[in-house]
Amino acid sequence: MEFDEDIKEPESTRINIESTRKIILDLIRAVGEDPDREGLKNTPDRMARMFTELLSGYTQEPETIINEALFYINYDEMVLVRDIEFYSLCEHHMLPFIGRAHVAYVPAGKVIGLSKIPRIVDMYARRLQVQERMTRQIADFVQQTLEPQGVAVVVEAMHLCSMMRGVKKHDARMTTSAMHGSFRANLATRQEFLNNISRGSKPLQF
Ligand SMILES: [Zn+2]
Repeated sequence: MEFDEDIKEPESTRINIESTRKIILDLIRAVGEDPDREGLKNTPDRMARMFTELLSGYTQEPETIINEALFYINYDEMVLVRDIEFYSLCEHHMLPFIGRAHVAYVPAGKVIGLSKIPRIVDMYARRLQVQERMTRQIADFVQQTLEPQGVAVVVEAMHLCSMMRGVKKHDARMTTSAMHGSFRANLATRQEFLNNISRGSKPLQF
């Protein structure tokens, strides 16, 4: 997924690299491995740095996302961004869940640049998450920022914690949704959205 080049991801200030490194070192010892062998020698350092990237959503400033991307416009048809790829970590096992999000809203005078919607998804995905909360947070953020007539978010994801742990594979796939305003109140609006996101969509797979 391509994002605007002009917006810099702020450096994570929340993650303590030094103590993360030490904990990973302890973890490697605790599972009975040798942290000094070649392949593992730099793993604590690599993982600590990796987490600053995978969990950068905590320090993402919403203002830097929406900055100068809000437009006042007389348009009241549905705006839909579908198939937004995302990567998150489940907070129960800290293993990835991976999938796509579909975000729609019906404006009430305010719209946001289309490229910003994937950045909003990313801001919430790059945290320790559960899929249900992430879905709601995306919907709430769009609701608060744009005050639209309605907003709808559907998230489909595969959870590695289910797939890798021998839980039945069909349990690893999950769909969640959050809807506000006209998507909740108006069946035709909701149906238009659901038809749009199912059209030509391929099933999730690895
Ligand atoms: Zn999990």
